[in-house]
Amino acid sequence: MPTAIDLLFRIRLAWMQTAAARLAKGESMRDTVSRELSRFYDLLTEAVATGDPAWMEPFLQGWLDSQATSEVTSEEADQPPSVVPVLHALREVTLQTCHENLASDDAVQLFLSLDPVFSHAIEYLSREEVKEGISTVTFRMNELQSALERLDKSKSNFIAVAAHELKTPLTLIEGYSNMMNDLLNVEDPRGQTMLSGIANGTRRLKEIIDDMIDVSMIDNNMLSLHFQPVWLKQLLTLASAELQEAVDDRNQKLEIQAFEGLEDMTYADPERMLQAILNVLRNAVKYTPDGGKINVDGRRLPGFLELRVSDTGIGIAPEDQVRIFEKFGRLGDPSTHSSGKTKFMGGGPGLGLPIAKGILEAHGGAIWVESDGYDEEMYPGSTFHLMIPMRESAPEDKAVRLLEAMDDPFSD
Ligand code: ADP
Repeated sequence: MPTAIDLLFRIRLAWMQTAAARLAKGESMRDTVSRELSRFYDLLTEAVATGDPAWMEPFLQGWLDSQATSEVTSEEADQPPSVVPVLHALREVTLQTCHENLASDDAVQLFLSLDPVFSHAIEYLSREEVKEGISTVTFRMNELQSALERLDKSKSNFIAVAAHELKTPLTLIEGYSNMMNDLLNVEDPRGQTMLSGIANGTRRLKEIIDDMIDVSMIDNNMLSLHFQPVWLKQLLTLASAELQEAVDDRNQKLEIQAFEGLEDMTYADPERMLQAILNVLRNAVKYTPDGGKINVDGRRLPGFLELRVSDTGIGIAPEDQVRIFEKFGRLGDPSTHSSGKTKFMGGGPGLGLPIAKGILEAHGGAIWVESDGYDEEMYPGSTFHLMIPMRESAPEDKAVRLLEAMDDPFSD
């Protein structure tokens, strides 16, 4: 009875010819393929002789490595080419050669000794390819993430530079229009309308530029806070006084409920905290129809005061409830919005909420929104939750910087 090794020698030539015909596409490849096949066959024989299928592994790894290098050069390939199908083809060739060249008992005996080697090799290659695939994907994701970070950095640098450049000429316009107002003593009502038009336009533009500067400071980890004793109740009173005219114009109701903790003191930057609260309240006015209601209440939680600002406005779709806190995350088509800070759905640049979020997070707090969805007819409303940390003293580092210290944003 011949051994598996005898049988392997016997069919070697037939195997080589069938395999080369199956794998070598074109004459030019034939020599290289034949060399590889011959080496493969030697190792196959070795694996059967020793009973250890791991003999094939270094050779298979060589195949994988050569595939990986060819994959790097073909940028457009979505999927790295796999060598597993080559092994399947060789297994079929082996079955076919055994069948065509050996008596059936011998063919079965040989194939039974070869099959575990093929199974092991296929399993090994599949595992290594998955590993290779994961590391390629991770590498590409990291590349993509760095590209996005660079893009985001240049965007916020652009905002910072543009904002500062715009501010200088704007200050000149503002100064001269104030001087015209004071010195020229314009009696003509048309002249007065024009001057107040310039003053309003300049004020609005200045607010937008200040928002752009704030958002770029937040982005670049440069927002510094000046902690002082703060009473939330006072801030809410100031905010509601500031919005009272708009609320009356829109025939809305703004109510601040008494709740436990409202009168407590904490340490915060009062100006920044007021700015954050105002941004949220102003949106509540803006996105609530005439006659609607804005309600402010809250509760004390361990270490925090939770402020809830609810409105009876258009609401926010679940898929937008995170996006609105990203800079320029305003929703809807800008061209269809009216403009104005508190007009119903008056357009804005989409910086109010990112600034509120930046300010709260710089204090160690948080902000999020809940809403049953967006509906301009049913007005499901929205509730913004503001978590304000309650402190008994100012944090160590008085000029608390947003997030952890990061690279200098302007360094490249
Ligand atoms: P802006 O108001 O300048 O567009 P914001 O950053 O303040 O920018 O708000 C981002 C977006 O979030 C708004 O464009 C609006 O679509 C949505 N939004 C904010 N507050 C409310 C609210 N109370 N009700 C409904 N939508 C809101």
